[in-house]
Amino acid sequence: MTKRDYYEILGVGKSASDDDIKKAYRKLAMKYHPDKNPGDKKAEESFKEASEAYEVLRDSQKRQRYDAYGHAGVKGQANPFEGMEFDLSDALRTFMSGGFGGFGDIFGTGGGGNRRDRKLRGADLQLKMPLTLEEISTGVVKKIRIKKQVKCTVCTGSGAKAGSSPQTCPDCKGAGEVRSVSHSIFGQFVNITTCSRCHGSGQIIKDLCQTCRGDGRISGEHELEVEIPAGVATGNYLSIQNEGNVGPKGGPAGDVIVIIEEKEHAYFERNGDDIIYELPVSFMQAALGDKVKVPTLEGSAEVDIAAGIQSGKILRMRSKGLPHLRQHHRGDQLLRVRVWTPTKLNKEERQIFEKLRDNENLQPPKSIKSVFEKLKGVFN
Ligand SMILES: [Zn+2]
Ligand SMILES: [Zn+2]
Repeated sequence: MTKRDYYEILGVGKSASDDDIKKAYRKLAMKYHPDKNPGDKKAEESFKEASEAYEVLRDSQKRQRYDAYGHAGVKGQANPFEGMEFDLSDALRTFMSGGFGGFGDIFGTGGGGNRRDRKLRGADLQLKMPLTLEEISTGVVKKIRIKKQVKCTVCTGSGAKAGSSPQTCPDCKGAGEVRSVSHSIFGQFVNITTCSRCHGSGQIIKDLCQTCRGDGRISGEHELEVEIPAGVATGNYLSIQNEGNVGPKGGPAGDVIVIIEEKEHAYFERNGDDIIYELPVSFMQAALGDKVKVPTLEGSAEVDIAAGIQSGKILRMRSKGLPHLRQHHRGDQLLRVRVWTPTKLNKEERQIFEKLRDNENLQPPKSIKSVFEKLKGVFN
């Protein structure tokens, strides 16, 4: 089957910027991701195709070679897949490592690349990272301790007893997979299955290491520093490559996936990049106006209350909200004014309010009053 042009697959021009390519891929990957299209072979093909195109075009060297020589230019030594079929696991890895690590990922950290390795990869480890709004506002470096499977120190991961070493599996000759050919009226089929003797590793161990019983791993602990950028939100996550469990028998490590969880704040509410704060003011402040101190994520600030302000009014404090992830501007802090009604009056205060009660000037305007009159009929 002839391969389609990579630019055509992503729907971008030859002069597309890295960003355009990334955006185009992201769009296609989101549309065709197998998680969104379970069992849909066509979608899976489109996902693989787009991922393969992206894998080449995101890398400036590979892209140059592809521009000059076409598909032939990115095969063989230039290609991390070494001419092998780009399969679904490769596509998923491209998706994960290309800064798209799932639907909530926001970190542009690439790297890792494509690990074509017959050895089994270790499991990814997931952990939750609770953060306060203040930490989210500034960004933060967190130390985390993780319990994970590390390389066995005795056999250094091989799984073989000291003095011995793993041998090439005689059944698959080290390939890890077994091919069998079957013939039918439709023609010849090649079946490829994982070698049952070595379970795909290509090697067998005669004398097992006694510390890890041949697995090549023992349990250990590791401390990691994680840098969280400012402006993250619940559900965002960040993958730290190669810090998960190591694979069995010296296989490559999985990743650590840190999932952000925002802690509830005592008095701030978040709305995107904006911070909402309910500002209680007294009758007197609302009527006379005042200067009040309000808390912000970075300390406190003074705000003018205009004379005659109404309950429910929103005051905007520009750029006092959260920073936009990976951008320079910040959201705002919004103050929702709430006129606070006193609940206990002493004699003197009561007298003052009673004196003012019927002042024509202190009555709500007619429009509000007429609604009030109607409601009276309902409740009485
Ligand atoms: Zn061992
Ligand atoms: Zn084998």
